[in-house]
Amino acid sequence: MKLSLNTQIFFGALLGLAFGIILGHTAFPPHTRSSFLFGFDLLGKIFIDLLKMVLIPLVFTSITAGIANLKNSSESNRIWPTLIFYSFTTTALAAITGLLAMNFIKAGAGIDVHLFKDKMDAFAVHSMTFSNFGLSAISHINILTVVLLAVFCGIAIALSGQRSQGILKLINQLFEIIMTLVGWIMRLAPLGIMGLLAKLIAQSNASLLYDLSKYILVVVGTTLFHGTVTLPAILWLITKTSPWNFFLAMKEAFITAFSTSSSTATLPVSLRCVTENLGIDKNIARFVLPVGAVLNMDGTAMYESMAALFVANLCGVHLTLLSQVLVMLTAMMASIGAPGIPSAGMVTMIMVLQSVGLPAQAVAILIAIDRPLDTIRTVVNVEGDCIGACVVQKIVSY
Ligand code: ASP
Repeated sequence: MKLSLNTQIFFGALLGLAFGIILGHTAFPPHTRSSFLFGFDLLGKIFIDLLKMVLIPLVFTSITAGIANLKNSSESNRIWPTLIFYSFTTTALAAITGLLAMNFIKAGAGIDVHLFKDKMDAFAVHSMTFSNFGLSAISHINILTVVLLAVFCGIAIALSGQRSQGILKLINQLFEIIMTLVGWIMRLAPLGIMGLLAKLIAQSNASLLYDLSKYILVVVGTTLFHGTVTLPAILWLITKTSPWNFFLAMKEAFITAFSTSSSTATLPVSLRCVTENLGIDKNIARFVLPVGAVLNMDGTAMYESMAALFVANLCGVHLTLLSQVLVMLTAMMASIGAPGIPSAGMVTMIMVLQSVGLPAQAVAILIAIDRPLDTIRTVVNVEGDCIGACVVQKIVSY
C-alpha cells in the first residue's frame, strides 16, 4: 500500500514529536544524545535549505509572471488596493485581539523578574531607532528587493505588450520548472519535518516553559482564536468558502509552516496548495502569496503586541491606552519588517519595546521560549496570506 504524501507528512510529524519527547526525557549518554540531535538537525536543515534554494527564483518568476499575465488592467488595478486593505485590516485586528486578551488576563504580573536577571544581563542590546530599523529590515530582507524588482519587471512586461511575449513565455516556463522541483523537494518533507520537530521538542526548556505557562497559554489561545475564528470568518463572509474545506486543502502547507517556522520557506508549498487544491487563479496566487509572505504577518503582529504587554506586566509598568495604541502600530510595522524566517519577530520586537520605553533586554526572556511559540504564529501568518489570495480573487472577479 502506498501512502499519500499528506499521510506521510502527518506520520513524519507524529514521529518527530514522539522522538523529541523520548530524547528530551530519557537519560541517554551525552554523545548518543548529541548524535541523535545532529541527525535530526541535518534532516531538517537539508529540507529547509532545499526550499530556500528555490525561493528567490520562485518569488521572482511567480510575481513577474503573475503581474504580466494579468492582461485585464481593471483586474490588476483592483488587486493592489484589495491586498493592501486586507493586509492592513487583518493585521490590525490581530494586534488588537492580542492587546485585549493580555489586558484581560494580565499574564506576567506577579512573576519575579529577577528570575531572568542572568539572561537579561547577558543580552547585549543594540538600540534600534526607526531609521536604523528600516535599514536593518531592508538589509536583512534581500527578498524584499527581489519582490520589488519582480513587481517592476512584471509591470514593464505588461506595458510592452506583444514585444515581450517571448520573455514572458520563458518566465512562465521557468516557473513551471521550479514548481516541479518543489514537488521533488516535498517528497523529503516527511523526513525533514520529523527532524525539525524532534529537535525542537528535545531542546525545549521545560522548566522555563512551565514558569511562563500562563503567558504561553494566553498567546497560544489567542493566536488559535485568530486562526480558527477571525480569519475563517473573513474567508466565509467574503468568499463563502467553507473553512473546513479550506483547512483540508491547506494542511500540507500548515504542517510545513508549523515545523519550519518560516513563512517564506513554506511559500512553494502554499502556492501549490492554493492553486491545486483550492482552485485559486494561478496569476493571483503567484502575486498575492509571495508579497503576503513578506509583508502580511498577522501572527507576528499579534505576538509582538502581546509580548510587549507581558514585559510591561513583568516590570510592573502600566501602559496607558495611548501607549497601547503605539504598541499596536509599532507591532504592525514590525511585522511588515520581519522577514519570514524563524524567530525573525524577535529582532523587530526590540523596536516595539523601545517605542514605549520598556527594557529591550527583556527580549532575552522572550527568545528563550520563542521557538515553540513561533510554530503557531507562522501557521497563522501563512493562513492569512492564503485567505488573502481567496479574498483578492473574489473581489477582483466581481
Ligand atoms: N517565523 C515567522 C514567519 O516566518 C516570523 C516571526 O518570527 O514572527 O512567518
